[in-house]
Amino acid sequence: MIDVQVLTLMPEMFEALTGHGVSGRAVNRGLLNIGCVNPRDYAEDKHRTVDDKPYGGGPGMVMSVEPLKAALGVAQQRLHSPARVVYLSPQGKRLEQADVKRFAAMDRLVLLCGRYEGIDERFVETYVDEEVSIGDYVLSGGELPAMVLLDAMIRLLPGALGSEDSAAQDSFANASLLDCPHYTRPETVDGMAVPEVLLSGDHAKIAEWRERESLRRTFDRRPELIDERKLSARQLEVLEGLKAGNERG
Ligand code: SAM
Repeated sequence: MIDVQVLTLMPEMFEALTGHGVSGRAVNRGLLNIGCVNPRDYAEDKHRTVDDKPYGGGPGMVMSVEPLKAALGVAQQRLHSPARVVYLSPQGKRLEQADVKRFAAMDRLVLLCGRYEGIDERFVETYVDEEVSIGDYVLSGGELPAMVLLDAMIRLLPGALGSEDSAAQDSFANASLLDCPHYTRPETVDGMAVPEVLLSGDHAKIAEWRERESLRRTFDRRPELIDERKLSARQLEVLEGLKAGNERG
């Protein structure tokens, strides 16, 4: 079981993750524990202040060191031994599936969610091990990014998904390729039929079709993801066909 402690001024937001769907079930089954520590609960003054004006002037507020330090202490205590501290930040390394795998293999983790203009740099320098961004855009807080990371981690935990295979077939899992297209009933929608092979019942042929479509999608949409060293001989053959422009469904 992974134990994750989240430092956040808005712990209620995490109910969106822990109360619904795959992530909610994973938490209910005890595959991971998500605890929140609110720095406001550890602010010393009577107004429970967690932020202050930036030195040098300018707009917005900055999260102060002391309440965060106290909250981190509580988180580390709950985790019993020191855990990696990850600050969700637009200035961090862009999150990729390889990072998600790395975090999902950990026993414990602290996620730090910023608000306002961000966190006093001295806290970041002293206590943060790693900064992770979910993309080149700025959100109002680190809670959604933390939930993005947690949800992606949960999908990789054994037993979290209905079928053990689903995560292995997802985009980025298999040699970093994108997933193949999917279809469900009815067989025809607005004149568009399901590819015949999927109705054939021939599992080998279906697997071959999916593999080809997965490669085709990746080649069309995200060619930079294709690492030929990770491809099987058959996949390389399909890729050669795609490159030559003569590979058809
Ligand atoms: N002034 C900061 C900057 O421009 O780098 C942005 C602060 S943002 C309004 C407040 C908090 O949201 C950040 O401290 C961070 O925790 C979170 N955040 C915003 N965008 C993010 C992103 N793309 N990835 C991860 N966290 C993000």
